[in-house]
Amino acid sequence: MDEFALIRQYFSDIGHVAGVEVGIGDDAAVVSMPPSTELAVATDTLVADVHFPASGAAGDVAFRALAVNVSDMAAMAAKPRWFTLALTLPAADPEWLQAFATGLGVAAQRCNVQLIGGDTTRGPLTITLQLLGELPAGQRLLRSGARADDDLFVTGCLGEAAGGLALLKASAVTTDAAKALLQRFWEPPIRTELAVQLAGQLRAAIDVSDGLLSDLGHLCAASEVGARIDLNALPLSPELLACHGQLRAVELALTGGDDYELLLAADPRHRATIEAAGCTRVGRLTAASGIHLHRDGEPAATPAMTGYRHFHGD
Ligand code: ADP
Ligand code: MG
Repeated sequence: MDEFALIRQYFSDIGHVAGVEVGIGDDAAVVSMPPSTELAVATDTLVADVHFPASGAAGDVAFRALAVNVSDMAAMAAKPRWFTLALTLPAADPEWLQAFATGLGVAAQRCNVQLIGGDTTRGPLTITLQLLGELPAGQRLLRSGARADDDLFVTGCLGEAAGGLALLKASAVTTDAAKALLQRFWEPPIRTELAVQLAGQLRAAIDVSDGLLSDLGHLCAASEVGARIDLNALPLSPELLACHGQLRAVELALTGGDDYELLLAADPRHRATIEAAGCTRVGRLTAASGIHLHRDGEPAATPAMTGYRHFHGD
C-alpha cells in the first residue's frame, strides 16, 4: 500500500468538527476561527519504548497520544478543535493501522476534535500530534497567574498510571485492580470540559504529566510562589492503595507522572464551586518559596528523602 492509499484508507475520516474549510488531501489544512477567538497550539511526541511500551495495543496507543495532547489544551482552558498527526511507522501493518485508526476515532469523538492533516514516514514507531484549540480572546489560563494563599486543587486521582506501569514492568498485572491502574495509563482522563467550565474561577493551571511535585514546581516558579501540600488530602484510588499500599501510593501520587490530571490554583472564595465540580483541595500556595509537605499538620519528608520503597501488597 502506498502512502496516499494508506492515508485515504485509515485517516481520512477521524472526528467531525465545524470550521474545517480544507481538510486532508491538499498541501495544508485551512480552518476558520469564530470572531474574537485566539488559537491555542500544543504538540507532543510519543516514542515507542520511551513514552509507552511498544507492546501496547494500537488502539490504546492512539487514545493515549490524543489524550495527552488534549490535556495541554485543558490546562489552558482552551477547547480542542483540530489536530494533525505525524506518524512514523516501521512497517504498514494493516492490522495495527486499523486498530490505531479505530482507537484514534474513538478518542477524537470523545475529545470533540477532527484530524485535518499530517505526515506519514517510515522509521521507529513515533507518534507526534499537534492540537489546535480555540480560546475566547483574553480567557487563557496560564501557569503564572497564581498568588500566595490561593487554594490548590487536583482533578481525579493521582499515581494510578505510574502505579499501573510499575506493575507492568514487574509482570504483576494479575488482579482487576492492577488492570484498572494500567488502563489509566492507556486512557488518560479528558478534562477539557471541566477546565472550560471552571476557567472563570481559576487563576492558574498545569496538567500533571511528570508527577505532582514536578509540575507544581513549574506552576510555583511561573507564579513566583511556594506551596504547602497536605499528604492526607491526596486523592488516592482504592485500586492504587490495594496494589501498592499507602506509603508507596503517596510516593507515586507525588512523583509518578503520566496522570494527566489538572493542578488548579484559585482564590479561596471559589472553594465550594471548585469542590462541587469534583476537584480535591490538596494544599495552598505560600508567599515563601519552596514546596513543603505536611501530614497531620506536621512537616513530612519528601519522597527524595525517603528513598525508593519496594512494592507493597502485590
Ligand atoms: P505533502 O507532500 O504536500 O506534505 P503528503 O503526501 O505528506 O503531502 O500528505 C498528503 C495529504 O495527506 C496532506 O493533506 C497531509 O496533511 C495528509 N496526511 C499525511 N499523512 C497523514 C496522517 N498520518 N494523518 C492525517 N493526514 C495525513
Ligand atoms: Mg508531507
